[in-house]
Amino acid sequence: MTVRATSRGAQRTSLEGVRAEVLICGASFAGLAVARELAGSGADVLVIDRYEIGERQTSACACPTRWLEAMGVAGSIKQELPYMTFSTPYRTARYRLPWSWSSFDYRTLCAALWEQCTGVRFETAKVESLGEPTADGSLSVITDRGTLHSPLVVDALGWRRVLSSPHYQPPQAPLSRGLEVHPDSDHSGDALDVFVERGLARRGFGWRVPAGDEARIGVGSYDPSQHVKRETVELAERLGSEAVKYQGNWFPHRLRDATGDNVFFVGDSAGHCFPLSGEGIRTAFYFGIACGRELRAVVANESDRESALAAYGAFSASHGRAFRIALALQRIVPALPPRLLTGVLAVVGLQRFVDRAFGWYLNQAPPEFADSATRSGPGPSEPLGAPLAGAAR
Ligand SMILES: Cc1cc2nc3c(=O)[nH]c(=O)nc-3n(C[C@H](O)[C@H](O)[C@H](O)COP(=O)(O)OP(=O)(O)OC[C@H]3O[C@@H](n4cnc5c(N)ncnc54)[C@H](O)[C@@H]3O)c2cc1C
Repeated sequence: MTVRATSRGAQRTSLEGVRAEVLICGASFAGLAVARELAGSGADVLVIDRYEIGERQTSACACPTRWLEAMGVAGSIKQELPYMTFSTPYRTARYRLPWSWSSFDYRTLCAALWEQCTGVRFETAKVESLGEPTADGSLSVITDRGTLHSPLVVDALGWRRVLSSPHYQPPQAPLSRGLEVHPDSDHSGDALDVFVERGLARRGFGWRVPAGDEARIGVGSYDPSQHVKRETVELAERLGSEAVKYQGNWFPHRLRDATGDNVFFVGDSAGHCFPLSGEGIRTAFYFGIACGRELRAVVANESDRESALAAYGAFSASHGRAFRIALALQRIVPALPPRLLTGVLAVVGLQRFVDRAFGWYLNQAPPEFADSATRSGPGPSEPLGAPLAGAAR
């Protein structure tokens, strides 16, 4: 059994009654992106997670390279992947992307993000639920180490959306399931490989993400009732790899309200994971930054909680169209007869289509957003860099 790094026994002192100006629950992609935006703000920011930072990888860890550079975490890159292949039972199409993916080391990336979170505190604690608000309007967060209080609370706890009720419960919820293995590998590919085969997932896909001396090979099903373990093992064996070092999780495929009960939801807890591709790291960064900027304005007395909730909620919702398009494709693509899909992939593979389609896709959460200092804007269809009136940080 894997033993996760977390505080235990005597280290687990009570946190009952601890207060913070901002309480960020969850210390993975979304939570650390929010905390990073608050670095050096002078605010008392507390991040909590059930495990130590970087302890539990839950993804194949592939992200557009430009996003990793923009977040200052390019040192975590294990391999750059300028190509993608899409295989059906009939043919493999190989695309050269207008931008590249990079696979990265999760622990190194989290450490690099945390290093940028100057002045932010961290504690391990398991979050249980939202409690009753206090008389001064602060929220109460119940954890296994006591109840914490803060006026500004972020749920970056992943798909379970712990601070809202009722929670999503698989397999009934709009969640996909993914499982992968991480064998050692001497595969010298330069592509992120996608396998669209009904034998692997009736509605879903398989993948291989080369990551230097390791490969991340897995299968995801948009249908949460379909188990994918046998298929993951089969894919790994077919690719000449051993099915070892398993890791799996659910990931959302529907955008949800990004605010509720005065809580900010970021990343998978708000459904910020693209349908069809199941890509949720870049979007966790993107919406985490947007949320962090709103919070920073509140702690600088340039805004208040209500305005920040409204602006962040509207910003997230303004991306609804892109998420709906991706969800429609998630329904249409698996329904296409495999021979027709093979033909479509060949046509879409013309370089000008690849450039347009993948350019549009990146632009729904563009890396330039990490550099711009705008709050809650612009949405994906607006030009970048247009500061909102009175919103400059
Ligand atoms: C098999 C698989 C492969 C994937 N591959 C990719 C990929 O290559 N690229 C990509 O972009 N996306 C990928 N995804 C999706 C991606 O992993 C998620 O969208 C992303 O992790 C969301 O980030 P997050 O910070 O919102 O949530 P998470 O990464 O889930 O982080 C949640 C954090 O909250 C903590 N936490 C949870 N519950 C509690 C609690 N009760 N109390 C305290 N702490 C808690 C966890 O320990 C964790 O640190 C993959 C998903 C799966 C399942």
